[in-house]
Amino acid sequence: MKITFLGTDTCIPSRGNDTASYLINDELLVDVGWNVTGNLRNLGIDVTSVRHLLFTHMHHDHIISFPSLIFHWTQTPPGRDVSPLTIYGPNETLERAFDGVLAFLQADRFWPNLKRPTLVPLAEQDTFETETLSVTCIPSDHAVPGRCYRIVDKRDGTVLGMSGDTAYGPTLAPIFKDCDLLIHEFSGGLGNVRGLPSKHSSAIDAATVASEAGAKRLAIVHGPLSAREKCLAAVAEIYNGELLRPEPLMSIEL
Ligand SMILES: [Zn+2]
Ligand SMILES: [Zn+2]
Repeated sequence: MKITFLGTDTCIPSRGNDTASYLINDELLVDVGWNVTGNLRNLGIDVTSVRHLLFTHMHHDHIISFPSLIFHWTQTPPGRDVSPLTIYGPNETLERAFDGVLAFLQADRFWPNLKRPTLVPLAEQDTFETETLSVTCIPSDHAVPGRCYRIVDKRDGTVLGMSGDTAYGPTLAPIFKDCDLLIHEFSGGLGNVRGLPSKHSSAIDAATVASEAGAKRLAIVHGPLSAREKCLAAVAEIYNGELLRPEPLMSIEL
């Protein structure tokens, strides 16, 4: 499985980075951050060659460049045709978010004959497949409806676990069981954020989940990156697997 980190940062990313977002096997985008089209083009990837878009949840920093992605599609020959794109996300909020994009772009005024993408609202324990991937979800424990994902490469069985934004909970380790890589948020840094209404994880929560799941590797993202080394030192006290330090636009092969 090929994983490209489009961004690794928090809500407002530092220069040269983007909010946590990824491209898997060059075919599945996960969240879009602030600059999805620029990120893909900086990697030499044709934006409309990516036909699957998956959202962890609909907080602004995870969807903020959703309109520019759809606009790019409408301006690409043959034009006004977004039908090759399939978009997956929590069933509670996916359609509302997409309707918001169309409203922002004034699609009814400019492109009354727009060919729409396929929307696939994901129920709490749904599964879907792309050409190379099989994806299963569970609900996250976050301030808005969200999903955590187990993504399996059908060609070789490699497994990626993806927390999205979530508070720590006992349902996380089972879905990430024995994964080759767990990408987990650490918004709380070294603080204790359990029970807070924002419903995020700390670095210790990420390490606990990785350890409980038996994850082979762990990448902590979407947290205070300036304190990452300090956080990783604390993580290493709890979790024995390999720690990755992803940088923006870096690709790894599992
Ligand atoms: Zn969030
Ligand atoms: Zn977030």
